[in-house]
Amino acid sequence: IKGQYGKYFAEYDDALRDQLLRDQAITNSMESALAQNQFEIYLQPKYRIWDESLAGAEALVRWNHPEWGFQSPAQFIPLFEKNGFITKLDQYVWDKACAVLRDWDDRGLPSISVSVNVSRADIYNADLAQILMKTVQKYNLPPSRLHLEITESAYTENPKQIIDTVGHLRDLGFIIEMDDFGSGYSSLNMLNEMPIDVLKLDMKFIQNEMAKTNSQGILQFIINLARWMHLTVVAEGVETKDQLVRLREIGCDYVQGYYFAKPMPRNAFEVLFSEKRQL
Ligand code: C2E
Ligand code: CA
Ligand code: CA
Ligand code: CA
Repeated sequence: IKGQYGKYFAEYDDALRDQLLRDQAITNSMESALAQNQFEIYLQPKYRIWDESLAGAEALVRWNHPEWGFQSPAQFIPLFEKNGFITKLDQYVWDKACAVLRDWDDRGLPSISVSVNVSRADIYNADLAQILMKTVQKYNLPPSRLHLEITESAYTENPKQIIDTVGHLRDLGFIIEMDDFGSGYSSLNMLNEMPIDVLKLDMKFIQNEMAKTNSQGILQFIINLARWMHLTVVAEGVETKDQLVRLREIGCDYVQGYYFAKPMPRNAFEVLFSEKRQL
């Protein structure tokens, strides 16, 4: 084919081919990468908004590939959700997160909680609750030390299944966080039926709302609603002092974001235990 369209499609094909090759390479090496400990968890601190004291951490996976270097989750998580490997990787992450909590407890460090991500794919694993219980029991931790982050869109995809599965996890004592709230389709009336403890506001949602002039409205409404439903509210992606101050004014409970710290290796995180933040 000649002309503009032919060129467009040829380039499109090239990009698609590159993507497929990259995906294939990742798929070929993921199992051995896990066996060789190329995956590790980074921790991003979460602070109480009123006094900026350290309240917890979110565990985020990183892939340190010997040839390709450091890979960000955006490059491999979507693929792992498609090919099913996420189930194995998430279990690895949960285990590592609990191992860290155990070690901190043994060393007498503050007993903060760690939030881990639970992929939408994990929800359909019939053994999910058993696996999570085994993991916390292995490290002699109460389930409440592990917060489970499940993205908002997973709730709307299959509300019945989620209410069952997540309700059971919550009954077992895990703390349930709805991640990325405001990013998509959560309907407010459904929120009332969801067995959750925490609303984690999506960073784009916060940033968009705060960028509007005269915009405190919807965020204030959500926070009031959360309070009324006895949910706590975490704002993620807080990047500026101004955002922090305004979130505090409208009654948000916890904050996480680059304004405080990026996700970091566990050793760097431990330094935060002895740090007193300036108000
Ligand atoms: P997420 O769960 O919404 O995690 C928050 C993401 O926002 C993280 O990106 C974090 O590094 C980033 N972030 C935190 N604060 C700020 C900020 O102030 N500004 C900006 N621009 N970004 C901020 P990350 O680590 O690249 O992870 C991306 C996504 O990959 C996560 O989004 C989550 O959906 C997924 N993911 C990461 N680790 C895991 C995991 O172990 N299991 C599963 N299933 N998914 C994971
Ligand atoms: Ca998350
Ligand atoms: Ca999120
Ligand atoms: Ca997200």
